[in-house]
Amino acid sequence: MRWTETFIPTHKEDPTEAEVISHKLMVRAGLMRKLTSGVYTYLPLGLRAIKKVEQIVREEMNRAGALELLMPILHPGELWQESGRWDLYGKELMKVTDRHQRNFALGPTHEEVITDLLRNHIRSYRRLPLTFYQIQTKFRDEIRPRFGVMRAREFVMKDAYSFHENEASLDKTYQRMYEAYARIFQRCGLSTAPVQADSGVIGGDVTHEFMVLADNGESEILSCECGYAATREGARSLIPPYSIEEKAKPLEKVNTPGAHTVEQVTEFLNVDAKRLIKTILYRCDDRVVAVLIRGDRDINEAKVRRSRECAKLEMATPEEILKVSGAPVGFTGPVGLKGVELISDKSLQGLVNVVVGANEDQAHLINTNFPRDFAIDSFESLHMAQAGDLCPACGKPLTSRRGIEVGQIFKLGTKYSTSMRATFLDQDGRELPFIMGCYGIGITRTVAAAIEQYHDEGGIIWPITIAPYQLLILPLNVDDEKTIATAEQLYETLSEAGLEILMDDRDERAGFKFKDADLIGIPLRLTVGEKSLEEGKVELKLRRDDQVLKIDQDKAVAHVVKLIHKERSAIENVSAKK
Ligand code: ATP
Ligand code: MG
Repeated sequence: MRWTETFIPTHKEDPTEAEVISHKLMVRAGLMRKLTSGVYTYLPLGLRAIKKVEQIVREEMNRAGALELLMPILHPGELWQESGRWDLYGKELMKVTDRHQRNFALGPTHEEVITDLLRNHIRSYRRLPLTFYQIQTKFRDEIRPRFGVMRAREFVMKDAYSFHENEASLDKTYQRMYEAYARIFQRCGLSTAPVQADSGVIGGDVTHEFMVLADNGESEILSCECGYAATREGARSLIPPYSIEEKAKPLEKVNTPGAHTVEQVTEFLNVDAKRLIKTILYRCDDRVVAVLIRGDRDINEAKVRRSRECAKLEMATPEEILKVSGAPVGFTGPVGLKGVELISDKSLQGLVNVVVGANEDQAHLINTNFPRDFAIDSFESLHMAQAGDLCPACGKPLTSRRGIEVGQIFKLGTKYSTSMRATFLDQDGRELPFIMGCYGIGITRTVAAAIEQYHDEGGIIWPITIAPYQLLILPLNVDDEKTIATAEQLYETLSEAGLEILMDDRDERAGFKFKDADLIGIPLRLTVGEKSLEEGKVELKLRRDDQVLKIDQDKAVAHVVKLIHKERSAIENVSAKK
């Protein structure tokens, strides 16, 4: 492709709203343009990188035995009603109405649609297991679209779904997908870490996220030298023990005017936050539950939701809090709290003489002790993990890193097949719900993550396997006949050899073209100029190196082909051998 015949609108300036480097570079290098918040047009150069990632994903999905199909973007609302997610998915579900006032959703994920397909067409265990995948545009009305295509409202995802007659079969496919994911990211040149995660709104029990480590990634990963790694939400950490050696003192009520946050109360009473119990009221489907936790820690709502087996968990409203506790927000406490279940995080174990809300406006209780002053229905692990907590596998402290979630795999079990009555007949003629798995990769997010991982101050440094082009031919002075003739000839011969080439045939200053070459980050650059040609040479450079190789003009083709092969196999070799 000749630069003058394609469309690569490069820019010197960073877009003002861009916070992360990949977003800045994707706009500056002419890979994409914003249409509206979280919605982008992928320009020719960007689309080529996206297609490269898609192709790797496709090859590995096929190899893992998944079948490609393409499901609709427009989903009838009734399907989402059936699974219960019309209400539960939340505001991210983009809802639209047709001319007959029928409800539809724009697909953020496709469990409902695929489950509907299978329940209508697969009756016997003999057809199982089955795995389907698609690569398609998804819609999620993100509350805060940001970081360009990293958190967009419209983005490209590969989603796959597997159907099984038993757990063992699901385990096998899950493992196969896990391996396919490792190969996909490796073939994209990315270094990723699989971590244990929380299953969020998708549901299910076992789940892993694949993370690209990056300092400004949105996800926090807690890991241990023993190999344990999990997202903050998914980690099952242990809180370092803290116990107070004191005799129980008599319970006392104190006025705490204006103090309702943990900071305000602990400052007012001059106590450590560890000696306060937070009492948080949640609406858990149709009941209210009080969750207790030590004052210096936060609750992991996903753990509460799972522990109470509720579909929808929300903080109680100020009105509900007033109704249940008799006091406004900030003064709730476990003593005398009637008619609600009281569950506690394990961080409370060992505490004596603690501060709690008095269930009375502007008042707290001090020297509260349990079970003397109140009873706890159950002690569970409900806290949000944090660095410094202890590893659940070996007991050493966990450390924190940041990452970008590029993919996630889930064992769903029968969550969707039960609610949507999707069943098959087993060997003994029994009617059973399908056991399911689902497996997503953010294609466009992966492209952005690759740029986060590979760039320098000059621009992008594409891994060769996902680069929009493998080689950039850069004739220095397009008015010089010999230069342009040589460049054209190299372009032709190397294209015939199967290479993907961009030729910068623009009539621009050399410095300007070099800057753009660095910005768009094509892995190999072949510079053709009058001076070198006089010596019968052309100049070859890897984008990631500073070194410029002067090579004989007549050996250029062989050299470039060899170097590209070497670059590719450095990334692909490991996976190709398997
Ligand atoms: P997140 O926690 O980042 O919101 P998620 O866990 O909701 O993502 P999944 O449902 O697991 O996402 O979707 C599969 C993949 O799709 C994710 O691993 C991610 O790579 C990608 N993805 C999800 N949401 C977005 C988005 N808003 N923009 C771009 N890619 C996304
Ligand atoms: Mg996810």
